[in-house]
Amino acid sequence: MQQCCKVKNMKNLLRLKKLNETPFRKRVLDIFNKYPYAISMGVIEKELKDYNRITLYRTMKAFVKNGLIHEILMGGEETKFALCKEICSNEAHQHQHIHFKCKQCNSVTCVEIAKFPVISLPNYKIEELEIQATGVCAACQS
Ligand SMILES: [Zn+2]
Ligand SMILES: [Zn+2]
Ligand SMILES: [Zn+2]
Repeated sequence: MQQCCKVKNMKNLLRLKKLNETPFRKRVLDIFNKYPYAISMGVIEKELKDYNRITLYRTMKAFVKNGLIHEILMGGEETKFALCKEICSNEAHQHQHIHFKCKQCNSVTCVEIAKFPVISLPNYKIEELEIQATGVCAACQS
């Protein structure tokens, strides 16, 4: 099972997503790199220790807007965030993965699937499609 993606070259990634490189942005991206699953705001705050709330809020907003990270909302859960693939931009998020929630460890992971279903709805225009699944993750099965 493939886990949430990691940033290999932060400088390039920030440039690609049209964001200036700042020490704080790099710190936040570093935190995403540390976790193999989606993380909540609480995890980010804990990792940062000292930070400015407004700066963090603005950074997260800019990251979501520019296609660096995406929000994951699963029923009854706090909002989690995970890194996006390169194709996400400030125009649209395009995810070809499902969000998997493990019932045992409560982790939420972005899992790539070989064939992402194409769904068409008569008279409706789908802009973003999200598939969510729950079960037992690879780590909890071993
Ligand atoms: Zn995205
Ligand atoms: Zn698990
Ligand atoms: Zn995801």
